[in-house]
Amino acid sequence: MAAPPSTERSLQESIVVDAHGHFLDMAARSRRKLHESLGGLTDVPLMRAGGVIAQLSACWMPDVRIGGPHGSRQPFRDLVKMLDYVHRELDGEAGDHVVLARTAGDIEWAAAESKTAVVLGLEGGDSLRGDLGRLRSLYNAGLRHVCLVHEGRNAIGVATQVWEGGTMRVYDPRIDEPGGLSAAGKQIVREMNRLGMLVDVTHMVEESFWDTLEVSTAPVIASHGNARALRDTVRYLTDEQIRAVAETGGMVCPSPFPLGPTRERPSLEMMLRHVDHMVRLVGPDHVGFGTDFLDQTGARPTGFGDIGETPRVVEGLLELGYGAAAIRKIMGGNFLRVFGQVAG
Ligand SMILES: [Zn+2]
Repeated sequence: MAAPPSTERSLQESIVVDAHGHFLDMAARSRRKLHESLGGLTDVPLMRAGGVIAQLSACWMPDVRIGGPHGSRQPFRDLVKMLDYVHRELDGEAGDHVVLARTAGDIEWAAAESKTAVVLGLEGGDSLRGDLGRLRSLYNAGLRHVCLVHEGRNAIGVATQVWEGGTMRVYDPRIDEPGGLSAAGKQIVREMNRLGMLVDVTHMVEESFWDTLEVSTAPVIASHGNARALRDTVRYLTDEQIRAVAETGGMVCPSPFPLGPTRERPSLEMMLRHVDHMVRLVGPDHVGFGTDFLDQTGARPTGFGDIGETPRVVEGLLELGYGAAAIRKIMGGNFLRVFGQVAG
């Protein structure tokens, strides 16, 4: 895709980071090569085409007893297998193209060497079962991020989506049990701080969110989440929450996919409205973007059909009147700063 010169310049000057994508677990589940086309909305060739250097790739391995019918009976075992696949791939041909980023410096190195960097993440801490030994094992395997909850109530905290009799609904504070962090969950956050892992509050109910911010001594992120001021749902962050994340030194990353259930259509325009709202609220130092792209070929966001179309995000920011410095921060500079501060 030919981008206008100003877009090209902004892209070249930025180290672009998608704070939330799923190319890694797509590759692992399909047993494809890590660096080849996966036929979905995100993979290494598409990232290269879109000028994206790095993705925080969040492995999704829910516990069937918590996360609904698509979960695993043995999520920790299956997660370890997934990470083993990643390491075997990186030891082979994929290692010529993809770098496991344990630090922000690794992402910068990947940019200089024209490689793609992957930050290993975990969407939903179900498989940890609140166990610090499991957390440390995953850290040693390269994991640098945990989105503490995803669906339901795990041993750490409570998510804004609840499974009930095979169907999913939104958490309702009037009928559901209180949703704070457990004692084990607080220990997990402290240990993540000590090790140097990104604490992600996406999908959390407010009580768990505020507990996490109280416990964490490091910047906190919301890797994919929009603003409740623009759409009123407990699945999104209030302005107060967005300000609080910014005050930790962290960042919030709107997504072109809404967190459902909703009739909202996925689109670039929607993502940019949320970005703009947050920048007005907390300034350009605390906002990024997290695509949530995986294999949704039947529901491509309008204007941002796959990660190869990332230059359109820059075009959209230019149209909104953003300058080069703010664009660099939003497209990846903020992620590098936060990841550097947390993980080194
Ligand atoms: Zn998610």
